[in-house]
Amino acid sequence: MAILEPLESAGGTRRRYRLKSPATLEPVGEFEARTANDVHEALEIARKAQRDWAALPIAERGRYLQRAVRALLARQDEFVAVIRRETGKPEAEALAVEVLAACDALSFYAKRAKRILADRTVPLHLLKTKKLRISYRPLGVVGIITPWNFPFLLALNPTAQALMAGNAVLLKPSEATPFSGQIVEEIFRAAGLPQGVFQCLLGDGETGRALVDAGCDKISFTGSVATGRKVAEACGRQLIPCTLELGGKDPMLVCADADLERAAAGAVYGAFSNAGQVCVSTERVYVADSVADEFVRKVVAKTAELRQGAEGEADVGPMIWPAQLDTVERHVSEAVAKGARVLAGGRRNPDSNGLFFEPTVLVDVDHDMAIMREETFGPVLPIMRVRDEEEGLRLANDTRYGLNANVWTRDKRKGVELAKQIQSGSAVVNDCMITYGLAESPFGGRKESGVGQVNGEIGLRSYCYAQSITVDRFGAKSEFLWFPYTARKTKLLRRMLRLLWGSPLGRLLS
Ligand code: NAD
Repeated sequence: MAILEPLESAGGTRRRYRLKSPATLEPVGEFEARTANDVHEALEIARKAQRDWAALPIAERGRYLQRAVRALLARQDEFVAVIRRETGKPEAEALAVEVLAACDALSFYAKRAKRILADRTVPLHLLKTKKLRISYRPLGVVGIITPWNFPFLLALNPTAQALMAGNAVLLKPSEATPFSGQIVEEIFRAAGLPQGVFQCLLGDGETGRALVDAGCDKISFTGSVATGRKVAEACGRQLIPCTLELGGKDPMLVCADADLERAAAGAVYGAFSNAGQVCVSTERVYVADSVADEFVRKVVAKTAELRQGAEGEADVGPMIWPAQLDTVERHVSEAVAKGARVLAGGRRNPDSNGLFFEPTVLVDVDHDMAIMREETFGPVLPIMRVRDEEEGLRLANDTRYGLNANVWTRDKRKGVELAKQIQSGSAVVNDCMITYGLAESPFGGRKESGVGQVNGEIGLRSYCYAQSITVDRFGAKSEFLWFPYTARKTKLLRRMLRLLWGSPLGRLLS
């Protein structure tokens, strides 16, 4: 089943596609993939536009983003409809995780970038004759490549940061959700953003590759590990920086002293929201043996209450991309063949033509199964009993991924200590997934889940280079270390070394 059909192209050189809704399989629209030539032209336009954009005071750049918030608010229904047409997401999910989070990202950076990116004067610990200033300079043109699971937010959020930092942006949204990427362009057009500062290049993997090879000053990539590796290789060849936000296999640790009612509700939300197509979905649970029966009972009962569909008050929408549905089916059937038991779901939803997979709960799973080791990215919650927290931790870290994690215990201090021992870019205690939505928090992955971080001060500054500018304070005619090198100077240097690191007073000063 394909939701993206290649079409015959009129001129021969351009690839055209027809897109269908994953919920109904009805046509959604057609688009043309931009070629490598198009990408080069867009880059030239962006380079020119970036100079004037970077020259604007940062508060002025912020005003454009504030206007974008107003445009987004005013036309939210129209935009939510576009996002839902190509993803099938429930309305509440599209509003909360795409629109609300996007408004917050735009206004957060619009208001705070001035402080975060202000020049800093750093007192020097030794050379008091110099003054050090750190200045956050824009990189130039940033290429942003995004996936289909949150097609609007994941395009808009890095764009807001890159723009506030004074860069121009070329966005290449996923071929599965191109029109949600186009909304970003629409919003910035409505906000009056100068032409060329932001351009959306619709296209497929080839377009993405052309963007990576085009000569941008940074690539900000969100997507799978396999593609991320290719992007990193290409950036490495060109010696340009990249941020890679990749897949995950997030663990949930349920301690014996957890509030089981809240933990079970959190497990169901963490596994099934956006039909499990969240990079920080809860993909595997380790629950202490002594409370496992009660926890599983609660999870199964709450799963049974979920309503699946794309219209009305539905909770769980469709899979967005057919290949992902195949992965989900493969993981579930392999687990069952190896002895896992299905306590809920376990199959495609028979009441729909669309790409719906029923919310699925599995028990009797182990680490010989792909469902516990590879990213499933679908509505499946495999639950494994463990002797104690120590065994849970060992299994949580037995993975090549390290994106997010969640820990459930009434003892919050213990929760934090356990979280610190999980090898993940972020972790949550007694809640799940929220990290990306906290604008102050850096977000990124360890191990194969990524390189670098987005969001917060660290993320915003990653769209700049921190230029170090040192100014001499007193203008002496010469410096001690300048020529000539005399025997007296060598002697003085030795004395200085002894004084600074060989004496108690020196150790205090240095
Ligand atoms: P994908 O890697 O298949 O595609 C991502 C983007 O890369 C698309 O726009 C695609 O057209 C483009 N692309 C494909 N080949 C390319 C190439 N050779 N060079 C450059 N660009 C290329 O990923 P997907 O299936 O769209 O998204 C799902 C994945 O994204 C999951 O693994 C999920 O965990 C991950 N994800 C991660 C985060 C995060 O923040 N860590 C967030 C959301 C999704």
